[in-house]
Amino acid sequence: MTTNADERRVLDAVPTGLFIGGQWRQAENGATAKVEDPSTGEVLTEVADASPADGMDALAAAHAAQPTIAAMAPRERSEILRRAYDLLHERIDDLALLMTLEMGKPFAEAKGEVTYASEFLRWFSEEAVRIDGGYQVAPNGQTRFLTVRQPVGVCVFVTPWNFPLAMGTRKIAPAVAAGCASVIKPAPQTPLTMLAFAQVLADAGLPDGALNVINATDAGAVIEPILRDGRARKMSFTGSTPVGKLLLAQAADKVMRSSLELGGNASFIVLDDADVDAAVEGAMIAKMRNMGEACTAANRFYVQRGVAEAFTAKLAERMGALKVGRGTEEGVNVGPLIDAKSRDKVTDLVADAVAAGASVALGGKAQDGPGYFYPPTVLTDVPVDSRLNHEEIFGPVAPITVVDTADEALAAANATEFGLVNYVYTRDLNRALHIAENLESGMIGLNTGLVSNPAAPFGGVKESGLGREGGAIGIDEFLETKYVAIGYSG
Ligand code: NAP
Repeated sequence: MTTNADERRVLDAVPTGLFIGGQWRQAENGATAKVEDPSTGEVLTEVADASPADGMDALAAAHAAQPTIAAMAPRERSEILRRAYDLLHERIDDLALLMTLEMGKPFAEAKGEVTYASEFLRWFSEEAVRIDGGYQVAPNGQTRFLTVRQPVGVCVFVTPWNFPLAMGTRKIAPAVAAGCASVIKPAPQTPLTMLAFAQVLADAGLPDGALNVINATDAGAVIEPILRDGRARKMSFTGSTPVGKLLLAQAADKVMRSSLELGGNASFIVLDDADVDAAVEGAMIAKMRNMGEACTAANRFYVQRGVAEAFTAKLAERMGALKVGRGTEEGVNVGPLIDAKSRDKVTDLVADAVAAGASVALGGKAQDGPGYFYPPTVLTDVPVDSRLNHEEIFGPVAPITVVDTADEALAAANATEFGLVNYVYTRDLNRALHIAENLESGMIGLNTGLVSNPAAPFGGVKESGLGREGGAIGIDEFLETKYVAIGYSG
């Protein structure tokens, strides 16, 4: 439980300007944007709102800092990341409170996100000193090939509101490790956490201009000229698939390296040999983490007939026991959705499924204001072709469809343009392998409801994305390979 005084203190302490070239400053035209508390709809504070000219200033600052960060010793870059990791843990309570205030997630989950976000700093501080190269004898024996890996150059990052810190550190940490300067635009709903993090990196010793943060409400007008300028060499975006496609097209103009972490439509398959209690436990994480506002959220449940009744009853009981409320309150498990638009979308999707024949086992109706609350909801008999099974819900709604066979579940799971993650519960190794090999997604949770880990390669296939963040290959997205052919005469 936090007090009003705690809230005021963190809000008063957070920088609210643009962070450009190591300086905090106002927008050149003096514009500001309001940041709301989604649990009350009240304004928390105002932040500088970048214009296209501010965006170009941020790009210029990153471009000027690029040679400095590229030339730093890998160990030095590593130690900056490690100090930032330590600072995040020193400031974890204040950062988590700030995140809860602007994003709505319960305080305990916000602390969990700060920890998760910090692990990208620690992981990439370890990777910074392991960037390798190669030396090879040409097949004809007459030349030698030297391979070096160099920073890709200035990066442009655009991130969403659902994980305001982790989606940023997942990009910034490998960029710093590889020796890249960057410009980041956080989501307008949640700029405060990223602004506080910029101060963390500055305090950890990151050179001026190596990270620039521009909050902008007119994202398209600010980001497009940066992508079309030519000085930035890499674009990395986390957000919805339509916006990802747009930015990819803009980045194509200068043939920028591009990474996309886009929308998901995860299935959660429970086969009749599964440990039902373990499946419910996993479902609680896969569905309810972040109020369901996660790209990895279980979006549709395909449960084999033999265990459907038990799984549905236990899941509804567990979800029904969750406490809904403002994330700062003691014992709250489910905060508000991010805004009225999100809450109304969830309302529409549920109404559509019910009209098509689904039954409500729990919840099913948005709470009246203030705030954008939607209660945990379980729907059964959801028709396979209903919108709920095809669109990202981004809310605490579990639609359950009963299937007769594992292959029926597999076919339904793959019947989507998305391919980020799928979850499967079974104790039969052969079935597990068959399903894991045939599911069309970049990640699979097998008998677990959580796949995100900084030490593992996160990313999707199909229209869920391009490239991987984290893991041993995460840094590759920020490196170019250069090969030097060396004449050799023996
Ligand atoms: P969104 O609407 O695509 O917005 C994401 C970011 O893009 C925001 O900062 C947004 O700013 C910005 N943006 C929108 N239009 C832009 C444009 N024309 N030019 C430049 N920037 C632009 O997504 P969201 O609703 O914030 O986030 C939810 C989505 O993110 C879901 O689809 C979710 O699955 C996905 N996501 C994916 C992952 C992953 O790792 N795969 C992780 C988290 C979230 P404005 O709001 O100002 O437009």
